Amino acid sequence: MTEKKETVFTKIDRGIIPSVKLYEDSKCFVIMDINPIVKGHSLVISKEPYSNLTEAPEDVVKHMILVARKIDARLREVLKCDGTNVMINNDPASGQEVPHLHIHVIPRYEKDGRKFGFAHDVYADGEMVELGRRLEIK
Ligand code: AMP
Repeated sequence: MTEKKETVFTKIDRGIIPSVKLYEDSKCFVIMDINPIVKGHSLVISKEPYSNLTEAPEDVVKHMILVARKIDARLREVLKCDGTNVMINNDPASGQEVPHLHIHVIPRYEKDGRKFGFAHDVYADGEMVELGRRLEIK
């Protein structure tokens, strides 16, 4: 039998590493991020340590996004934030540091000055349409 994968989040779930937990059910739990982009930054984490969005079953993904929506509502209610960033870093190439599926829910305020550090790419003539044809889901 293979041993179950251990991550910082499985250790948090088992209480080996302390956390501030906001919510828990059989499919996921929510903690406050220890290194927040904005105070109140929370993480919706799958109970099972799926590495990424592809690995997790559909019912878990659907459930987690609904829990993220509840956290968004709570952040708006308590912190009076004006919006949230709801995002998943999906595999290390995207910046995922903890290989255990989680959704970031980050409170945002008008003029809070936070910006993603992405530079923008530029399409050559016709390239976007051609790429769109390849990416279209039929
Ligand atoms: P990601 O880069 O998408 O994998 O995000 C991982 C997140 O987990 C980061 O925002 C970290 O600050 C957060 N994190 C790592 N360790 C802990 C911890 N012990 N408690 C709470 N959040 C953590």
